[in-house]
Amino acid sequence: MKILVMSVVLMLGVVACDKHPQEKPPAASGPTNAAQVVSGPFSIQELKDFTALDPIDAHAHAFQNDPAFFALFKKLNLHIVDIIVVDDQNPQSKELPVLSEAAWKFVRGSDGRGILCTTFDPYKLNDRGFAESSKRWLNKEFDQGAIAVKIWKNIGMEIKDAKGNYILPDNSVFAPIYKDIASHHKTLIAHVADPSSAWAPMDPASPDYSYYKDNPVWYMYDKPHPASKEQILQARDHVLEQNPDLRVVGAHLGSMEADFNQLAQHLDRYPNFAVDLAARMPYMMLQPHADIIAFITKYQDKLIYATDNEFSPSDKVQKALDEWEGTYARDWRFLATNETVDYGGRKVQGLALPNSVLRKLYHDNAVRWFPGIVRGSH
Ligand SMILES: [Zn+2]
Repeated sequence: MKILVMSVVLMLGVVACDKHPQEKPPAASGPTNAAQVVSGPFSIQELKDFTALDPIDAHAHAFQNDPAFFALFKKLNLHIVDIIVVDDQNPQSKELPVLSEAAWKFVRGSDGRGILCTTFDPYKLNDRGFAESSKRWLNKEFDQGAIAVKIWKNIGMEIKDAKGNYILPDNSVFAPIYKDIASHHKTLIAHVADPSSAWAPMDPASPDYSYYKDNPVWYMYDKPHPASKEQILQARDHVLEQNPDLRVVGAHLGSMEADFNQLAQHLDRYPNFAVDLAARMPYMMLQPHADIIAFITKYQDKLIYATDNEFSPSDKVQKALDEWEGTYARDWRFLATNETVDYGGRKVQGLALPNSVLRKLYHDNAVRWFPGIVRGSH
């Protein structure tokens, strides 16, 4: 399966997460069949089936407090985990208190349907008292109701220590923070590393080409002495080993979307590790039908439905509403029905997973891996 998946990586170039290009579909060169493609928003019956699961999107980024958005959540009977990260490359995401406040406004306006995954500012790691002040910040966020903490790929791919070395997720400076998160029974969401093309020569034929051309800070290949993707993922694994009481959800299939065997081994090995599906549904869509059903069935307790949907302050509301519902409807048809869905010209038959599995993916696993995710009144 590995070779096939690697080719999928080249076709898709899904970098995603946090203000990055959206999934790029493969060219319209995939297998075709005569089945009629279903697209657009939910039908009445689909909506009935979807809402019956009390669906949760465990990975989204929403910072605009808009009544139309909350009406969509109500219509879809949806809860989301609203995630923030500090990104020095993005002027809108540099200041943690500002980011946090925007997210809290969204959460508080959502009638209990949004809940916050907060973060700490890793760019300050060389400051005196970094761990203590980060813990103080996080504990304040926990007091307000944050249920999780995100670490992002800037740890491993951007931030350096005082000696100029890239810091990795298992750097000892973070150890007290991980302990603090575990002691508060909160969850760590880890998006570390990126697609392998970040560590490979620039290839104009690669769909990631324009992303790394436009965002050279994340292009590791031409950096002097970068950490390899393997080193970064191994450092993440050390965190799993050193913190058996810490629940860790690996964002984007744990950055192992290029190798489902590697992902399976991790899910087998670490009882405190699960993954979200955010922005990686196309990788699953392009697996052989029977293989991906077998994978989901085997790991039905450790896969958490998520999208990476974004609603930024500058986004147009109607456009965002259409995109959000379109994503939920497309993913639903793929996972829950045997309809044919279109992904960038490629026709993919839905998996028609049984209701017991769908309920775990869309609800039960998120509730178990993110305690406190569903609360409030609505
Ligand atoms: Zn994200």
